[in-house]
Amino acid sequence: MSGFYDFYDVVVVGAGHAGIEASLAAARMGLKTLVVTQSPDAIGRMSCNPSIGGIAKGNIVREIDALGGEMGKLIDRSMIQFRMLNKSRGPAVQAPRSQADKITYSQIARKTLETTPNLFTLMDTAIDILTAESSTEMPPDSDSSAEIGTIPGENRGTSGKTGGKRLKITGIATERGRIIPCRAVVLTTGTFLGGRIFIGEYDAPCGRIGEPAAYGLTESLHKLGFTTGRLKTGTPPRILKSTIDFSKLEINNGDDEIIPFSFDDEKVERPLVPCHIVYTNSETHRIIRENIGRSPLYSGKISGVGPRYCPSIEDKVMRFAERERHQIFVEPEGLETDEMYMNGFSSSLPECVQDAFMRTMPGFEHAVQSRPGYAVEYDYVEPTQLYPSLETKRVAGLFDAGQINGTSGYEEAAGQGIIAGINAGLYSRAHKNFCGPVCEIPHDLNGIPVSMEPGAFCTKATMNAAEQKQFREISKNIENRLNEFEKQCQTKAGFGHFFDIPEWKPLVLGRDEAYIGVLIDDLVTLGTKEPYRMFTARAEYRLKLRHDTADQRLAKYAFEAGLKTKAQLEKTEAKYAQINEIVSILLKKPQTENPGYPEKIWNEAQIEFKYKYYIEKQDKRIEKMHKMENVKIPADFDYSAIPSLSAESRNKLEKVRPLTLGQAERISGIRNSDIMLLMVYLR
Ligand SMILES: Cc1cc2nc3c(=O)[nH]c(=O)nc-3n(C[C@H](O)[C@H](O)[C@H](O)COP(=O)(O)OP(=O)(O)OC[C@H]3O[C@@H](n4cnc5c(N)ncnc54)[C@H](O)[C@@H]3O)c2cc1C
Repeated sequence: MSGFYDFYDVVVVGAGHAGIEASLAAARMGLKTLVVTQSPDAIGRMSCNPSIGGIAKGNIVREIDALGGEMGKLIDRSMIQFRMLNKSRGPAVQAPRSQADKITYSQIARKTLETTPNLFTLMDTAIDILTAESSTEMPPDSDSSAEIGTIPGENRGTSGKTGGKRLKITGIATERGRIIPCRAVVLTTGTFLGGRIFIGEYDAPCGRIGEPAAYGLTESLHKLGFTTGRLKTGTPPRILKSTIDFSKLEINNGDDEIIPFSFDDEKVERPLVPCHIVYTNSETHRIIRENIGRSPLYSGKISGVGPRYCPSIEDKVMRFAERERHQIFVEPEGLETDEMYMNGFSSSLPECVQDAFMRTMPGFEHAVQSRPGYAVEYDYVEPTQLYPSLETKRVAGLFDAGQINGTSGYEEAAGQGIIAGINAGLYSRAHKNFCGPVCEIPHDLNGIPVSMEPGAFCTKATMNAAEQKQFREISKNIENRLNEFEKQCQTKAGFGHFFDIPEWKPLVLGRDEAYIGVLIDDLVTLGTKEPYRMFTARAEYRLKLRHDTADQRLAKYAFEAGLKTKAQLEKTEAKYAQINEIVSILLKKPQTENPGYPEKIWNEAQIEFKYKYYIEKQDKRIEKMHKMENVKIPADFDYSAIPSLSAESRNKLEKVRPLTLGQAERISGIRNSDIMLLMVYLR
């Protein structure tokens, strides 16, 4: 352990899809931001499918773009096929999806991070979260609201102890011994916390195959009182293109017309390539069935719960025994690689079994794997421990985003990333004004940062009681020294708020404003016990959340946060002024020919016109919802003061402690009659 390094306004842990958006948002808001990630070579790496977008996910990408994020631009510059999905159905359920050149995607993401002003990258592993005890009481809803014993792989950090003071972030410590003071931290650790991969009888401590798992942080989260669980996901084998006989496969071309994901991109010009389709058969299924006992899922080696909507091929064969075949998409991983991704063919059976069942498919008789399919199990933080801002309830200034919150998917991760990044930025700004400067780094006479000499951390997969005790002692020692420094520095500068938490207003998107709003509200209100994936069916106001209207819905928030310029906002406003103008014309005379409006605007106005009646009906429902949403529930509301409240509802309300009546209504199992009672009491 050696160093006490530069101070940052925001530290983001992990540079996957959530970390990219979080760090860019904070840095673009003018905050000095550091991304600590295990490997800069893996920035923006696609762990699984080489594609971005899809039903509901494509809408999220456009929302991220409208909020000033990067994912839309990254895919516009790296796509190798484009499709508008559900073209034969209504615009409300259409969504863009692109195959990505995953190498190019990751390279552009890395370059963007490395060249963004205020943003710094560091190759290291965060192992501890450093905090100070604040003067504020711990909120009554700070614990996981899930029933004890219901979270897969549950580990309750509080061990039944509650209460005390709320904590606030003061920094992080890394595996190589850096102690980095900061005002806010965003954790975006993906599948790496306590990650373990499985291929048949083989298992190893990895976050992804070939990449080490991250240890220490889960223990640190338990130390702070967080409840964590275990989830799992899986990926298919990658096959060398030269070993597939494509003449036996169906070809699957993309659209001729490419609609850019980013509202800033007028058009996308990229080399496009086809995908292919192949089907499993009775022989494939026979081999899988006969070897099912060797699957780590079936042999009981994996305890984590997997994504219900993204089953492995062995799951599909066992669960849908009546199906004669399953469709597999064969997708290129990029233009400069020969690896092909087998979409729908995820497996954790032994490699020899994967080889055998793969070679039963036409065109794959001589196919050779370059990487095996595998399953990965990892720690996640039960998300009811977060506010809708993605700030944790226990620790002020600590935010979680992405797979760590129990979601699955690049888009879901990135959507949370940008909200966590913006809110960490807003918190950090408020902290700066309220608490004053954070300490100058003390240097010795040679200009070298003064050592904190805190001793060595133990970061193993599992720590015994003595190692845990040692971890906590070292951590406390560092915290005490860091906090003493900070307090002195702030007091010297004339601020006396070291123990206080600043007041600030986070960005929280409504369920009627964005799929990202639906996603976060679902997570923090209902929690999740399996990997959460976004679907259109999760959104009540789908007509409002069309992918083409994301800029109308969200550009104002990007402008307010400093992520879009006034000129960009005015451009969006001018576009929608024109659309409204056209709709008024069409209302008077529906058959009007385009009198000269740009084709794109004219077409968008046609959709708006077609759905006007339904949108107005939906608006009325939204208005009703807003009334509920605006009724705030005090954090310490005494539910026992309503004697006629059903015991079940009271129990759930006390655990979740919803911030509004709207949020209370969405808690699963709360009776309508209890909501009416609550409404009467709150008025
Ligand atoms: C095998 C596998 C299969 C998957 N299959 C699917 C699928 O079929 N469909 C789907 O939608 N999604 C799938 N996913 C999930 C998808 O990859 C993730 O949802 C997405 O990448 C999550 O983004 P993220 O930013 O949260 O984390 P990640 O993209 O995982 O990035 C996390 C980053 O943080 C770094 N990191 C972690 N801990 C630390 C630490 N303590 N200190 C420093 N750096 C750290 C890691 O090195 C990594 O670079 C799969 C993932 C894996 C691994």
